[in-house]
Amino acid sequence: MDLHEFQAKGLLRSYGVPVPDGGVASTASDALRVAKELKGDAWVIKAQVHAGGRGKAGGVKVVNTFSDVYDVSSHMLGMKIVTKQTGPDGKIVRRTLIEKATDIKQEIYLSFLVDRDSEQHMIIVSSEGGMDIEEVAENNPSAIVTERINPVTGMGLFLGRKIAKKIGLDSSLLNKFADVAHKLYNVFADHDGMMLEINPLVVTGDGDIVCLDAKMNVDENALYRHPKIEEMKDYGELEPQEVRASIFDLSYVSMDGNIGCMVNGAGLAMATMDIIKSYGGDPANFLDVGGGADVNKVREAFKIILTDPKVKVIFVNIFGGIVRCDLIAQGVLNGSDEVPSDRSIVVRLDGTNVEEGRKILEEGAAKTGLTIVTADTMADAAQKAVELAAGEEKPAKKKTSAKAKE
Ligand code: GDP
Ligand code: MN
Repeated sequence: MDLHEFQAKGLLRSYGVPVPDGGVASTASDALRVAKELKGDAWVIKAQVHAGGRGKAGGVKVVNTFSDVYDVSSHMLGMKIVTKQTGPDGKIVRRTLIEKATDIKQEIYLSFLVDRDSEQHMIIVSSEGGMDIEEVAENNPSAIVTERINPVTGMGLFLGRKIAKKIGLDSSLLNKFADVAHKLYNVFADHDGMMLEINPLVVTGDGDIVCLDAKMNVDENALYRHPKIEEMKDYGELEPQEVRASIFDLSYVSMDGNIGCMVNGAGLAMATMDIIKSYGGDPANFLDVGGGADVNKVREAFKIILTDPKVKVIFVNIFGGIVRCDLIAQGVLNGSDEVPSDRSIVVRLDGTNVEEGRKILEEGAAKTGLTIVTADTMADAAQKAVELAAGEEKPAKKKTSAKAKE
């Protein structure tokens, strides 16, 4: 789960990590009130969206008057921001963070990650702050220092001082840097962080170290241990399909292709993605309805796929173990009832109550005119789904049966 900058900075502040004073606004007059409360003579207005690269896209502005606080905020709020990380569709700015501006002397990059290879945490620090770390890795890799951190012992002050020396920080800053890195690590580790990126971490004109930006991602599977973090979830940043999936507790990941997939079991779901790919198609999503799905859950899952505009063909791939095929079939029909669509549905059912399931689908299709293509094997089904998505004719048999009905 991604946190907004202001949410991550709230956590940092509670751990004693230096961050600029600031407040969040959702209207321009709110922004003005925050700036007046902060006092001072320079403020930064920052778009709160789940994406980096805002500076280059007009989402970070330094201003020096109250009238600019007001004008820049009213311009930024509601605007669509497009950065490398938002994708071409961009993100709407619904809130801004207003902070007292910082006098920057030096910008540093710092992040924590989970390193699955070594089963440890990793810290990455670079003297080239404020830049994309990928770019630095390409153009100036020697400016990057990485160290592993044993999650049991944590990030000691010694390691912080060692890194600070390696990136050439002034010796007067070694202890301050080590202290900030130690506290940042605790924020990251205590909340089951997947990533915490401070870019830039700055040295101010007064010789202090301050986190100017904060990007944090927390492991979704650990949210049950962090109810306060879960409350921070911003549904406005999710696709409507992702919101529905989280309400009904479905494992759903949106992808770029055009074959919508409804599968039971994560392993089968992954195999389904693979087989679609191997026949030259592209899945539109990963969707695991789970083992113990009931009719309502299947209906909701099917509606999620039906409401996704990029889906051209739907592939239902179910192996009925605990979940019964007749129940899946009924859920599919119920979902189609609520979201009418003329897209073809390729169905491969096997396992418990498969005959009943097929019968329900056949009868349903005859009644509603749905185009349902049944297949016996997974390979056969995948091939048909890929062909249909590629814009082949709808299957002739079903067309005639629909006509016969009229
Ligand atoms: P990002 O572009 O989404 O990563 O947003 P950042 O919060 O990192 O801001 C982008 C850049 O704006 C930073 O690298 C800084 O150079 C600049 N910036 C942000 N806050 C301040 C500030 O308080 N004072 C000054 N002078 N520059 C700032
Ligand atoms: Mn940044």
